[in-house]
Amino acid sequence: MAATTSLRTLLAEKTIAAHPDLVREEASGVRCLACGHRCLVKPGRDGVCRVRFNREGELRVPSGYAAGVQVDPIEKKPFYHAFPGRDALSFGMLGCDFHCSYCQNWVTSQALRDDQAVSMPRFCSAAQLVDVALDRGAPVVVSTYNEPLITSEWAVEVFKSAKARGLTCGYVSNGNGTPEVLQFLRPYVDLYKVDLKGFDDKHYRELGGVLSNVLATIEQLVNLAFWVEVVTLVIPGFNDSDEELSNIAEFLAGLSRDIPWHVTAFHPDYKMQDPARTPVATLIRAYDIGKAAGLRYVYPGNVHGGVGDRENTRCPSCQSLVIKRYGFFVEENRMKARGRCPECDGPIAGVWEAQAPVRSQGTGIPMPVLFS
Ligand code: SF4
Repeated sequence: MAATTSLRTLLAEKTIAAHPDLVREEASGVRCLACGHRCLVKPGRDGVCRVRFNREGELRVPSGYAAGVQVDPIEKKPFYHAFPGRDALSFGMLGCDFHCSYCQNWVTSQALRDDQAVSMPRFCSAAQLVDVALDRGAPVVVSTYNEPLITSEWAVEVFKSAKARGLTCGYVSNGNGTPEVLQFLRPYVDLYKVDLKGFDDKHYRELGGVLSNVLATIEQLVNLAFWVEVVTLVIPGFNDSDEELSNIAEFLAGLSRDIPWHVTAFHPDYKMQDPARTPVATLIRAYDIGKAAGLRYVYPGNVHGGVGDRENTRCPSCQSLVIKRYGFFVEENRMKARGRCPECDGPIAGVWEAQAPVRSQGTGIPMPVLFS
């Protein structure tokens, strides 16, 4: 039996019925609302992600396992404006609704499509995952590695347990959302990182997505007051033209100048082996484009120590150093209480210390400054 077939058989037993908010019955099957594909799943068939399927008229969805669990710096997700210098517990399941040829998590994301992607789930409870976070002193729990939208019921089960024990929760996602799934997640998810993979719909369709869905998701996330950070993996010859980078930066700045934009270096992975690693000069060009578009926080990534001061957070009002970083490590955090600049007392947007949402100043659509 092929590895993907035996894995599917195993995972089929670790399922529950879809949450009523994420499924709709239709004449010929069930409509899944968990991601932007909105699959109409007929009896005996799977959705595009292959982890949600119709069994005798019921949409079954994954639950009760993890295929990867790790505790590491939150900057690695990357979130730079949430709990700086602290650890996050990351957990992932299997499967994805995209099939990016350069996926850096392909062993888990493509486990149900590719026999080369060998990944075994470990059955566990939500409380066991939260125990790991608490044992390791991590204040944040993040669903990542595979696409969390397609496994949202399980993420919410974990997050309910995490929030009851005082933790903050986040998604690391391709942004192929729906209004229904974002409303479903909002009570439990505070931090949301979106991979905006470019600004070219033709390229997005090659990866299995649609650009307009991802843009609409980012806009909805901002309007729903999630704390949003956006990452663009800058790939030579794929999305690194001035025009495409400017389109991304201007789109984000039009939503909120407070959205941190991470422009990170590509390295050959999975099926995309041709482009060379992204030159540092390209990342600095992307940084300049982001700043010229009006974004307050732009960070070149995956080049530890290679971009000088650009890894740091500076106050957008007075330019004083607020957070000094080296790669994923915070070397100095000068932030004052309630997310204020140590020199001019201006606000630094992010999730810093308490739970009282405060609006940032001077943005198109107001962004919250959350305090935990
Ligand atoms: S999560 Fe997305 S890909 Fe999977 S069944 Fe639902 S709509 Fe389809």
